[in-house]
Amino acid sequence: MLKPKRANRVVACLVCWTCHSRMGPNHFTLKDGGAVCGLCQTKNPLGNLRKRSIQEVTEPSEILVCFTQGGTAAHALHIECKTVLGPWINFASAETLEKALRYLGATDAQLADHQNQMRRCGQGTSQVRLLPLRKNLLRIDWNKL
Ligand SMILES: [Zn+2]
Repeated sequence: MLKPKRANRVVACLVCWTCHSRMGPNHFTLKDGGAVCGLCQTKNPLGNLRKRSIQEVTEPSEILVCFTQGGTAAHALHIECKTVLGPWINFASAETLEKALRYLGATDAQLADHQNQMRRCGQGTSQVRLLPLRKNLLRIDWNKL
């Protein structure tokens, strides 16, 4: 029988109830009967751990970000354009949104497209790469991604 590929391993992942980030076992610490988030240091109950494939927490995904009001409101949309992944989030300015997209993993080309669309219309939909282990600035519901 073939051994399952290492990449298909199922691991315990934490979805933090404070910062809503998602992380694999190398990024949270088990302590005093809880799991401490590596991003915001909040202690979560062990019930917040979920079994997930290792790819989900180690590989980037692509999402769409719908934005309006001159880049001061945005929400995440599934790459298939139908599933809303998160609520509308307010940003202080278009620059703040751009910084957030860069932090989340947007490539230079994606950011340039975003800036063009922003300048032309003040609203639109930008495709953005989402890297693992980022604070969940767009409050993405990981079950829908
Ligand atoms: Zn956290």
